[in-house]
Amino acid sequence: MFEVLHPHKNELITQPEYIQLAAEHGFQLPNEYVGGRCPVCKRRMKVRAGHKKDDGHFYHNDKLFCPTKDPASRPYLGKTPTNADPVAAARNREFARNNINAIWSRLNEMVPYLDLKEFVSILEEARRINVYGYVDLDPTILPYVYVTLINFLPSKSRNKQRKFKFCFFYEAEVKDYEDLWIDRGRECHLSRISYDGNQTKRVKVFEMEREYLTRVEYPLSERQEQWVSSVC
Ligand SMILES: [Zn+2]
Repeated sequence: MFEVLHPHKNELITQPEYIQLAAEHGFQLPNEYVGGRCPVCKRRMKVRAGHKKDDGHFYHNDKLFCPTKDPASRPYLGKTPTNADPVAAARNREFARNNINAIWSRLNEMVPYLDLKEFVSILEEARRINVYGYVDLDPTILPYVYVTLINFLPSKSRNKQRKFKFCFFYEAEVKDYEDLWIDRGRECHLSRISYDGNQTKRVKVFEMEREYLTRVEYPLSERQEQWVSSVC
């Protein structure tokens, strides 16, 4: 990974920034300082110098499980609600249809070169596992559930313009989607990790904010809206 969480703060730092920080704290060898933290499992990561300028990176220095090493084993993937609530499901699906433009726009902010067919795949998967039926689901967080439902492959991106594969992760404490709306006194973190093959590259952290509902910067045409609403 080229960026990790700061040793103590909730912000991403690059490898040169970490090395600087280690030096400021009096460490000659950067790995003797506490280490940056993996944005997903929060464990300490080691730093490795690059072969070229600017490709120094962080890595997990153990064989322990971290979802970023194996995105397919994210624990919440493909999970259907155990006590699906049909009334809530109808209401939540209605919310998605009514706000489909805003949801599509929010996804575009998070996933560069999002293709409409990818959006349709997401909506199909959401329907298949019935994410709408979760008891107590706050439908305004649907975009943040949707992004975990598929992997965003370069080959499926709009005009194949996406360079890396993107996968979205919640922090490791989240084992089920329900954990997202358990009140823990703070928002969960949602990270997007870019992969070049199996190599983790960049990290971006997103806030699970609700203002997207009024932003709508990537409006769908009427025909597109009809199409995606019909799969919803
Ligand atoms: Zn990790």
